[in-house]
Amino acid sequence: MLKKNNKEIYDLFKNDNKTVIIAGPCSVESREQILDLAIKLKRMDVDFLRGGTFKPRTNPHSFQGLKYEGLDYLIAAKKKTGLPIITEMISFDGMDDYLEKIDIIQIGSRNMFNYDLLTKAGKTGKPILLKRNLAATYEEWLMAAEYISMTGNNKIILCERGIRTYETETRNTLDIQAIPVMKKKCRFPIIIDPSHAAGDSYIIESSSLASVAAGCDGLMIEVHDNPNEALSDGKQALKTSELNAILIKIKKLDKILK
Ligand code: PEP
Ligand code: MN
Repeated sequence: MLKKNNKEIYDLFKNDNKTVIIAGPCSVESREQILDLAIKLKRMDVDFLRGGTFKPRTNPHSFQGLKYEGLDYLIAAKKKTGLPIITEMISFDGMDDYLEKIDIIQIGSRNMFNYDLLTKAGKTGKPILLKRNLAATYEEWLMAAEYISMTGNNKIILCERGIRTYETETRNTLDIQAIPVMKKKCRFPIIIDPSHAAGDSYIIESSSLASVAAGCDGLMIEVHDNPNEALSDGKQALKTSELNAILIKIKKLDKILK
């Protein structure tokens, strides 16, 4: 299997013919869980495997991730399937041995304003998925991207994941307008994370299809085959069979629109 370099990985998001699909669990929970999911997702033609191992949870008593052990399992899943991997980093301490094996570094919503972390992420030279903070304006989000760019690393992928509004029925409100606005303001690809926007799995299909129709470059969707047992974000997780049904529709949309 040919290993893709940082530029080749980043260029996958510039494919005008296809919506890039990133899927995986909110958190890596065990070796078996991530290997089993990765094999299923690979068969479904997913492009990237996601999985959190350092989890910045709102509640400090909630599951905080398997940390380095989780990274080892995620890397094992990459080795087994060939799927490139993306994972959130909340610090670069102790990461030297892992960086080479991680294909995209995710900067989470909570850390979009952590300028020291953005600079450190930029300096790795890896593609960076920069999530929008739930209360950030477009300008603030672009300025966060600028911190990464200033290190000489322009391999930035923007990710809209819902912003906080007065609505409480859904976890956040998906700002689909971010797609045309960011396309006008910068040249970075923009992907949509409908899972954290919705907070509930029944909403994911509609918002995914709407995002593709609005011209996003990719989607990042959380999956878990036993959502009731998930250690984080089970309510918004799709089963792999449910994701597959959506991916079939996305392929059709891609054919019409891209
Ligand atoms: C995640 O993608 O695992 C995550 C924690 O998302 P966010 O930073 O958008 O809350
Ligand atoms: Mn999550």
